[in-house]
Amino acid sequence: GWLDGRSALVTGGASGIGRAVVERFLAEGARVAVLDASAENIAALRKDLPDVVVTEGDVSSFEDNERAVAATVAAHGGLNTFVGNAGIFDYFAPVATTPGATLSGSFDEIFSVNVKGYLLGVKASLPALLESSSPSIVFTLSNGAFLPAGGGSVYTASKHAAVGLIRQLAYELAPRVRVNGVAPGGTLTDLRGASALGQAETSLRDAANFPDLVRATNPLGIVQQPADHTGSYVLLASPENAAAISGVVINSDGGMQVRGLVQAAGGADL
Ligand code: NAD
Repeated sequence: GWLDGRSALVTGGASGIGRAVVERFLAEGARVAVLDASAENIAALRKDLPDVVVTEGDVSSFEDNERAVAATVAAHGGLNTFVGNAGIFDYFAPVATTPGATLSGSFDEIFSVNVKGYLLGVKASLPALLESSSPSIVFTLSNGAFLPAGGGSVYTASKHAAVGLIRQLAYELAPRVRVNGVAPGGTLTDLRGASALGQAETSLRDAANFPDLVRATNPLGIVQQPADHTGSYVLLASPENAAAISGVVINSDGGMQVRGLVQAAGGADL
């Protein structure tokens, strides 16, 4: 495989896109570790893939990131690729109708996971990455990293912020570490919303029209599944295939970026 003998740590790897990356990396010959907060998702992962090294913890905690890196290095002898992927959504919460205190709480919560989680994961991984051969970092972004209407303002801003992290880290960690991203379009997963918005149990899977919405908003007209995105992560983590690639984001969204999302204006009911 393209990742034979290499060691990877995937945050949010117990579900959805992260879990698909875990399975694909294993198939490409990598040894894989996961940091995830969900005991339920972790139990399923352990049962299905007992070789994966799992740490239960929160990506917004530096100590939990450090524990996950330590477990990875102890089991695999090193760390070649850090995949920042754990994230939460805001289910399009509109600025106009979300109460101020709720909006404030959702900002703190979503930025803690989607932005600080990536930053602290890199900080915790960096010593091990710098000791390994051809190290790389890959973040999961979103169409919301480039376009409005892929979420509410807070989610969109959090994914835009992660583009900034990629660019800064691709500069700051060069020439030793390559840093890139993959930006999926709407994908059928269990993605949850912010507790501050009362969305901790809200899942994309529960929205009956989500597959149709995804199909209607991408030129290829496909309903994206987690496995559809994994080849991009393999490419970016592979020294043979991506030796010259750093600071870029691969849009894995059925071509959405050529035309944008749904409607001309989002404020018709203001
Ligand atoms: P998912 O909920 O299926 O998987 C996310 C995993 O991350 C879960 O196992 C969850 O327990 C874990 N997690 C959440 N918060 C955590 C925290 N604080 N600490 C540790 N683990 C945590 O969702 P998914 O859709 O696979 O999401 C993965 C990434 O993909 C996210 O960054 C999301 O923003 C991004 N994304 C998803 C879509 C989509 O439509 N599903 C589209 C674009 C981007």
